[in-house]
Amino acid sequence: MQETLAIIKPDAVKKKSVGKIIDRILQAGFIVVAAKTINLTQAQAEGFYAVHRDKPFFANLIRFMCETPIWVMILSKENAIEEYRELMGSTDPQEAASGTLRRDFAETITRNAVHGSDSRDSAYREIAFFFSESERIAAS
Ligand code: GDP
Repeated sequence: MQETLAIIKPDAVKKKSVGKIIDRILQAGFIVVAAKTINLTQAQAEGFYAVHRDKPFFANLIRFMCETPIWVMILSKENAIEEYRELMGSTDPQEAASGTLRRDFAETITRNAVHGSDSRDSAYREIAFFFSESERIAAS
């Protein structure tokens, strides 16, 4: 079993898509190992997306991620990182395959509904960024 960090972003929260997205995640066979809502501070959002600090879209991305509380989850499944990236679809919802979360729940490349770790190193870092061991609610 492998773990990945998933986020439901403010655009999907505002559109009341959280329940539908979690249902799709569960139907796809992922186990939710930990989950919570959190209202990111600007500093937290900047820390989480530090790798994009120099990108032209950074300021917009940070403002967007702080619009509402987000939902963060640790998901577990065999090959979870790649499988959840597949379930999410391409970063730009216009390019995302049909049946993916971004195609079905997002509109623009910034406001793209969901996040998922892109590598083992990112998953490790991102899970530790949001969760302590005591916050795990299910065996992975
Ligand atoms: P992800 O792993 O598919 O989420 O994509 P990245 O790690 O490359 O980017 C992180 C987030 O920054 C994306 O999910 C988008 O919300 C945003 N983003 C990435 N690329 C662009 C871009 O070219 N333009 C804009 N406006 N936002 C972007």
